[in-house]
Amino acid sequence: MSDAFYARLRETLNEIEVAGLTKPERVIASRQGAVITVKGDGGKTRDVLNFCANNYLGLAGDGRVAEAAAKAAHDFGAGMASVRFICGTHSLHKELEAAIARYLGYEDAILFAAAFDANGGLFEPLLDEQDAIISDSLNHASIIDGVRLCRAKRYRFANGDMTALEDRIKAAKADGARTIVIATDGVFSMDGHIADLGTITPLADKYQALVMVDDCHATGFLGPKGRGSAAFHKVEGRVDFLSGTFGKALGGAMGGFVCARRETVALLRQRARPYLFSNALAPALCGAALEAIRIANSEEGDKLRVRLFENAARFRNGMAATGFDLLPGEHPIVPVMLGDARLAQSMSARLLEEGIYVIGFSFPVVPKGQARIRTQLSAAHSSEHIDHAIKSFARVRDQLEIS
Ligand SMILES: *Cc1c(COP(=O)(O)O)cnc(C)c1O
Repeated sequence: MSDAFYARLRETLNEIEVAGLTKPERVIASRQGAVITVKGDGGKTRDVLNFCANNYLGLAGDGRVAEAAAKAAHDFGAGMASVRFICGTHSLHKELEAAIARYLGYEDAILFAAAFDANGGLFEPLLDEQDAIISDSLNHASIIDGVRLCRAKRYRFANGDMTALEDRIKAAKADGARTIVIATDGVFSMDGHIADLGTITPLADKYQALVMVDDCHATGFLGPKGRGSAAFHKVEGRVDFLSGTFGKALGGAMGGFVCARRETVALLRQRARPYLFSNALAPALCGAALEAIRIANSEEGDKLRVRLFENAARFRNGMAATGFDLLPGEHPIVPVMLGDARLAQSMSARLLEEGIYVIGFSFPVVPKGQARIRTQLSAAHSSEHIDHAIKSFARVRDQLEIS
């Protein structure tokens, strides 16, 4: 009987392979950074330039962040072996919750094992079938799952379509919704587009709706002091629930959080299932995140952000001048549009041979016919790294004879 089951799995794996959708996992044998050591076939290692990490501020391989993690592990051990409410709440958790709330301008914050869990656990305790969630169609999988796990009525609007959003708000009102929450990524990770919070928050005010923003690709580097997409749009204080990660700009380790008003956080502590039923964040992760927040919120952080956006502009300008089709914007996510899935695959494979590590994305991660190589810039890149990458892109394109 189980033979049939495993045969089915092999069949599915084969379908994925035949469709060219298998996601291989390349093995890295160094710290994360602008230059990384990758293991090739046969275990041979080689150094390449990395243009696909969420390492926006370059803190993932930073010595101070690693030391802070090591010190926390040394002082307090590997972990708590408990959920928060039994015997898992450590002073480091209180410190980190206070630090992220203060940094982002909120009354309080609650930690989760990952932002995926933060989004998965956020909606269900706060809303029920009398309420409505209006979700952007390109929202991250974790928001989609969180909405599914919640009994609120669901409404969806086409990505970034503010007219459609207002229509859905009116529909939810007409359907008698008690509370309406508009949920959006702060930055859409496949496109690098920044959500139009300058329009969304006044719309929310107009209809007394609440706003939830997932700022995983914004916290630490977008807007003044890196306070995120609301700061970028000058609507700070108008986002009711802000979720984020310590796994990207803020140190690159792991851990998620929700910043919100005091009573929201208090209820999440009582009811959010990924919080209640999952181990407390390890001390090393808290130590790393605390140090990353300190750096992000400092003058050094300002310099890293200037560097990051200079790098993004240099890459965008150079690639555009070389004739590549980019999605416009200013975010350090720079999608190089290729259209064809196999072309995106072969181009990224050839680029790796040239020493440039980038990944091709195709359906179902992005719409059919919109395959791309999503590049991501970091403050850790030098101008030479960027110029080298642009030259490599051009060379590989010429070899593949496309333009
Ligand atoms: C990366 C990401 C997440 C997941 O973050 P983790 O902390 O790694 O679970 C959630 N939402 C968005 C928009 C992301 O980009």
